[in-house]
Amino acid sequence: MQIKILGCSGAKSVGKSPTSFLIDNKILIDCGSVVSKLKSDFIADNIGCLLLTHSHFDHIMELPFLLELLLQDGKNPFTVFASGDSIDSLYSNIFNFESWPDLFQIAEKEGKELHLTEYTNLETISVDEYRVTPVKVNHTVTTHGFLVDDGKCSIGFTGDTYITDSFWEQCNNKKNLKAVIVDVSFPGHMHEEADITKHMSTDLISRELNKLDSKQIEILISHMKPKLIDEIKSELKKAKPDFNLTFLEDGMTLNF
Ligand SMILES: [Zn+2]
Ligand SMILES: [Zn+2]
Repeated sequence: MQIKILGCSGAKSVGKSPTSFLIDNKILIDCGSVVSKLKSDFIADNIGCLLLTHSHFDHIMELPFLLELLLQDGKNPFTVFASGDSIDSLYSNIFNFESWPDLFQIAEKEGKELHLTEYTNLETISVDEYRVTPVKVNHTVTTHGFLVDDGKCSIGFTGDTYITDSFWEQCNNKKNLKAVIVDVSFPGHMHEEADITKHMSTDLISRELNKLDSKQIEILISHMKPKLIDEIKSELKKAKPDFNLTFLEDGMTLNF
C-alpha cells in the first residue's frame, strides 16, 4: 500500500497544509489539501472515493472545490463517505446554498455519479479491493479513525482524537497492521489545550501507544502545530525510544 501525504499539518500557512492522505492514488482520507496538491485531470481520472474522519474545517476545507471539479470534469463515480453527524454538519454549515450550493443535489439533478454516503461505526465498507473499518474515537465532534486493509496489509488512521480505547483494540485485532497515523498536536506542557480541544499531546500519545500490543508497528506522527514541531519531536523521541516513529511532512510518499 502506498500513502501520499498531501497535507499533515494541524494548521495552514505557507508550506504547511491541513490533513489529506492519498492511498494507492485511489482513496482519499480527509479533504484539507486535495485540489491544491493534485492536478484536476489526475483527480478526475484516478480517485473514486473520499473518507471523512469528521467535519472540522481543516479536514473538509477543500471539499467544495473538489466536488465542483468532479461535477465539471468527473468521468467516474465518486463517493464521499462520512458519519451521519458529519453529513448533518456538511449540509447545515457548508452545502446550504448560503455558504456554498448543495453540489450533491445539483449532481443528482444532472445525473452525475457523485454521492454522499453514511458509514456506521465498526461496519466495514468495501471500496474496490479495500476493506475500510470506521472506528469511533474521542474528539470534540463525532469523529472516526479508519483501518484500511488491502488484503495484504493494513494501515490505521486515528483521525483527530484524545484518549480512546476502541481504536487501539481494533488495531490489536488487525494482524497485518503495518503503520498507524496518529494525531499529536501539542507538546506535553500544553496539556490544557489538548484537554479542551481533544487532541493528543506528547504525554498522552506516549501513554496511548502502550495500548498497542506490538512495538513493530510504525507510528506516523501527524497534525503537529507548525510552531511546536521541534518540541513535539524531541519529547516523543525521548519518551518512546523503543518505538518506530516517523514524523510526517507534506509531500512524503510511504510504501508498506
Ligand atoms: Zn478536529
Ligand atoms: Zn484537525
